[in-house]
Amino acid sequence: MDESRVAFLRRMIATPSPSGFEQPVQQVIREEIQHYTNEVRTDVHGNVIAALNPTSHPRVMLTAHCDELGFLVRYIDEQGFLYFAPIGGYDPSTLPGERVHIHTAAGPILGIIGRKGVHLMDREERGRAPKLSEMWIDIGVSSKEEALKLVAPGSVATRAAQLELLREHLVVSRALDNKSGIFTIVEAMCRLHEQREKLKASVYFVSAVQEEIGGRGAATSSYSVDPLIAVAVDTIWTSDHPGTSKQEIGEIKLNGGPALTIGGFVNPRVYQLLVAAANEAGIAYQLDPEAGATSTDNDPIRLTRAGVATALVNIPSRYMHTASEIVSLKDLDEIAELLACFVLSIDEQTNVIP
Ligand SMILES: [Zn+2]
Repeated sequence: MDESRVAFLRRMIATPSPSGFEQPVQQVIREEIQHYTNEVRTDVHGNVIAALNPTSHPRVMLTAHCDELGFLVRYIDEQGFLYFAPIGGYDPSTLPGERVHIHTAAGPILGIIGRKGVHLMDREERGRAPKLSEMWIDIGVSSKEEALKLVAPGSVATRAAQLELLREHLVVSRALDNKSGIFTIVEAMCRLHEQREKLKASVYFVSAVQEEIGGRGAATSSYSVDPLIAVAVDTIWTSDHPGTSKQEIGEIKLNGGPALTIGGFVNPRVYQLLVAAANEAGIAYQLDPEAGATSTDNDPIRLTRAGVATALVNIPSRYMHTASEIVSLKDLDEIAELLACFVLSIDEQTNVIP
């Protein structure tokens, strides 16, 4: 993929957006999406909503969440150690020793997540996963007074990892869940803008907030956009590495192309339209069979107003919710192309009644 396109993904990763504190990355997204849309607005929740061809019918919404996991500083002790609450769902065993950035008005401050050292642990402590309550952030000061000059309680932090190329198409970073999803829908809007004479539907781009704490931005933005059809893009775990079971979660791999969800929480006709668009564009796709809830923004959007015909397109990812999530740029490119082809196939005659 073109380095100028990867630069946008790199810029989003470099800009922190823990749930509830997304506006810095939303600013980066507004600057990019304005080139491909007719109008851009931000709602009271912080969602960025942009439209291309806004007066046509039906309305199709492409959405991904821009928030990432983070930490909220709650208390600073006499020695200047910061105690925090998690923003979103962590595996606590991935945290000790991690470098973090605490975001302050004066810029990011480096910190380290501390925990009692392995040499000092008793047998029981060594044999179990650490608890978040046994960790703190160390910013290298020696008193509360010194810490307070740098950081106030209520500040947020994110892990410090940035985007790096791993090999061939593979990139690694924190927060690829779900800034890589935003990347695919921005890229799809860019391609739709280039072919806008062929566009029959109106397309709404939504960079949604607060997914990691419960799909909240998706609920409010879909109410306001009021689409007939909505496609959510998010990352999904793969079964292509040790410790996972294809028998339990199905067969999804990196570089295998878009993973399309099939099941009761997606509209069967929209799923079929995505399959048809993939076949037409010559894009190989994978299947994500989900018996129930998808635990993505698909779910709240589906129940908006009198119901929305939703579908879920998944980006294969290894090591989700760690500082080293891996996704494939080739998969991102194919998902963007699939979304653009899908939207171009929709017109007023499109039937989404199952
Ligand atoms: Zn997530």
